Amino acid sequence: MQFNVSQLLQESIGSTRAYEINEAAEIIGDGKEYNIKGNCHLLRTPRSILVKCKLTTAVELSCSRCLGSFHQPLKIAFEEEYLPTVDVNSGALLPEPEEPSAFTIDEHHVLDLTEGVRQYALIAIPMKALCDENCAGLCPKCGQNLNQGKCDCPAENIDPRWSRLAGLR
Ligand SMILES: [Zn+2]
Ligand SMILES: [Zn+2]
Repeated sequence: MQFNVSQLLQESIGSTRAYEINEAAEIIGDGKEYNIKGNCHLLRTPRSILVKCKLTTAVELSCSRCLGSFHQPLKIAFEEEYLPTVDVNSGALLPEPEEPSAFTIDEHHVLDLTEGVRQYALIAIPMKALCDENCAGLCPKCGQNLNQGKCDCPAENIDPRWSRLAGLR
């Protein structure tokens, strides 16, 4: 997900490039590479390159209910400005961007999307990951994964004093 934008930086404001992405990258810090597909559009602005990406991938997560691992499809869409760090014509260093978190284009005019994709992938991950909306979860008593079948625990855990009252009714 790296593009050399030296040419684009020398073109007039409003010039564009479009790239198709189809590559594997490590994006959620779990040591695994996931295939990322989609497209990115680059636009030369007076001070930067404005990048718009629409990407999809599927990452392996563990279900918050049954703890099983599953593949969560993710849509990673973002729009970010990438600021050059050197002047493309003179090679002179440019002042550092005022925003410390700004994305930058390196001194070789390489615009690397990886960090942006990583940040937006993390945002796209649901807070409460579920392998399935109807995931049955684990039995609170024996810990069996109830998606794989019922356990032998009694269906309901009624306090015996209440069950006697229930019987009277
Ligand atoms: Zn689950
Ligand atoms: Zn059980």
